Amino acid sequence: MKSVLIGVGQAGGKLVSALHAFDAAENHGAVHGAHAVNTATADLQSLPSPVQTRLVGQSRVSGHGVGGDNELGAQVMREDAAEVLDAVTVTAEVDAIIVVAGLGGGTGSGGAPVLVQELKRVYDRPVYAVGVLPGRDEGSMYQVNAGRSLKTLAREADSVLLVDNDAFRQSGESLGSGFERINEAIAGRLGLLLAAGEVDAGTGVAESVVDASEIVNTLRDGQLAAVGYADAAAAPDAAENVNVVTSVTRRALLTGTSVDVDTADAALVVVAGRPSAIPRKGVERARRWVEDETGSMQVRGGDFPLSSDSLASLVLLSGVERTGRIQAFFERAREAQATTEDAEVEDDAAAGWAVDELDDL
Ligand code: GDP
Repeated sequence: MKSVLIGVGQAGGKLVSALHAFDAAENHGAVHGAHAVNTATADLQSLPSPVQTRLVGQSRVSGHGVGGDNELGAQVMREDAAEVLDAVTVTAEVDAIIVVAGLGGGTGSGGAPVLVQELKRVYDRPVYAVGVLPGRDEGSMYQVNAGRSLKTLAREADSVLLVDNDAFRQSGESLGSGFERINEAIAGRLGLLLAAGEVDAGTGVAESVVDASEIVNTLRDGQLAAVGYADAAAAPDAAENVNVVTSVTRRALLTGTSVDVDTADAALVVVAGRPSAIPRKGVERARRWVEDETGSMQVRGGDFPLSSDSLASLVLLSGVERTGRIQAFFERAREAQATTEDAEVEDDAAAGWAVDELDDL
């Protein structure tokens, strides 16, 4: 899926940079522009040069960031969106625009929903968001900010792909020190999803190879989405890999996504590996197993030819808004909101950010 990536805020910029680096290193050609937008000069300066950077809100915060104030983040983006849009080129071949942000901070949390809204107004392409949920042990400001941001993003974007930092965290690792590793892991699986629709004709068995429209159609069936991934060593001969495909798909679905799979409305199973090592029977069996687990009849499946000695399964789940992790997250956001209750809440309600409407999801 040929995509233009726009990171908003610190996490957004770093993730876009990691996604661009993955796409370039693997030569996938799915990333058709990588941008980072921030209110903090220092965060932009640390990004490598292929990422095009844009400072916003200079007249308000002089390049010092919005300090976790996501309303200011939204306001700044509203004022400077035209400049951001001017800097972004979306050519005719681009399938989707993807806005990436940490939901718990200020610039990305407030700015991403506004930018999505502006992009939707200008382009007739799907606009997706990738939203990073705050960890369970991050403070109440992060939970409240993320609750508001996710609710608005879900309304504005064609789909929100959720990234759960907690699911990538290794035991004993602090969130901060793990970010680089976490970003690479996230970039690997999201990068593979984008690349899956970008196979040259002739590289694999054409009719079974996933194309961009299958990603778009899967995402269309829900507001919130998640991606699971697993891989394993494979035999050179496809006939010996039927169980490998079913077991990696099982792992991809049941670990790492943090969502209850039976809440999904639609799914896409992508099996990646050497074409001669991918068993048709295994892919179909894995697809049907995902159908059983999700209870959805909208489960698509296909291959992604790669020159790798292992086989990987990538499962995109769409329509996961009723999942326990998301409900618990909204519950925490609501509790945090209740304990920090003050006049601000009324302003929020007036601005359409009312947290009691989170139940809508
Ligand atoms: P902003 O710059 O004001 O938009 O704020 P941040 O991007 O720092 O957003 C804060 C949220 O994003 C917190 O919940 C952090 O846990 C998360 N976060 C910050 N940096 C990273 C990162 O590099 N990777 C990931 N995965 N999450 C991050």
